[in-house]
Amino acid sequence: MNTYVYTLYGNVYVNLTNRCSNSCEFCIRNHESTMDGRTFSSHKGDSGDAYDLWLDREPSYDDVVSQLDELDLSQYKEMVFCGYGEPTYRFDIIERLCKYARDKGIRTRINTNGHGSKIQGRDIAPAMAACIDTINVSLNAVDAVSYQSLCHSIYGNDSFDIMLDFARECVKCGGNVVLSIVDCVPDEQIERAAEIAEQVGAKLRVRKML
Ligand code: SF4
Repeated sequence: MNTYVYTLYGNVYVNLTNRCSNSCEFCIRNHESTMDGRTFSSHKGDSGDAYDLWLDREPSYDDVVSQLDELDLSQYKEMVFCGYGEPTYRFDIIERLCKYARDKGIRTRINTNGHGSKIQGRDIAPAMAACIDTINVSLNAVDAVSYQSLCHSIYGNDSFDIMLDFARECVKCGGNVVLSIVDCVPDEQIERAAEIAEQVGAKLRVRKML
């Protein structure tokens, strides 16, 4: 059975797609054989290790809700859109699921590579800022060339600026935006990441490499 919903670290995770506009070198999608049949999703930073997140079929809204309805959501801190691909490919149902989460009284977060507006072919920042409590955008690198050499995006060297523009637009729209970078990069890059976050108007989260 496809795992559309799973729980970990006191959160509920919603897994909507395998599709991604990047092919990051550090992504567990590229290192599956080392994982002994278990799966992580690395741009998410906090996905689980006890679930097979690869989907045979992307879920409908009702598919996700039927799995969510099996949980007592009052027991969890956040509903997190995160999984084995880039969740904004399914922004249509994310908006609906955020309304569901609000009705249930649970906060929401998305872990995204920041390409959502490009993926959707329209500016989704206003809708994103309006519906999701925390927008966590993976920064991954501090310049366009380094980003592309690490993330191998279908958008080429534009991918870094696409991501930053999206983060900036979400901030302008009142979104709570966090840029994240892993702690294995040199200190100078962490400092540069902090400058970028400040310029964008976002917070910076330095997260542990899984
Ligand atoms: S953006 Fe995230 S899901 Fe996509 S390849 Fe990179 S780490 Fe993997």
